[in-house]
Amino acid sequence: MSEIAVAPPEALFTLTADRWTLPFWDAATGGWLTACRCGRCGAFRMPPTPFCPECRSQDVEWPRLPGTGRLFSYTVVRRAVVPEMEGSLPYVPALIDLDEAPGARLISALVGCAIDRIRIGAPVRVTFEQRVDRVKVPRFRLDE
Ligand SMILES: [Zn+2]
Repeated sequence: MSEIAVAPPEALFTLTADRWTLPFWDAATGGWLTACRCGRCGAFRMPPTPFCPECRSQDVEWPRLPGTGRLFSYTVVRRAVVPEMEGSLPYVPALIDLDEAPGARLISALVGCAIDRIRIGAPVRVTFEQRVDRVKVPRFRLDE
């Protein structure tokens, strides 16, 4: 029987937002995925930064993305490094290359999939995890 990737415990993550990240969390809580795009040259960057590394503009856009992507890299955490991780294993942190956002690579986690089916380059699709603070966090499932 395969192990299934599960979400890490909410208690381990305190989400904070500022003017550069709030649009991302607002979109996720609204049920859609976005990434920071330069309003001047169109270059994507994640995480968002105050200045575009390509043209130094501070203009930003937050386009609606399809919520799909490809698995760039991942690891499988099978041991609890802190007590709060007990019961939330295996946890699979992942880097996702987002479709329609070239250059935007999102740090997230795979959930709800058999560990032995995970492959680099696999298509993935976003799913949103509801937190007790009403914010939703994007995670990804294999899109097979
Ligand atoms: Zn730019």
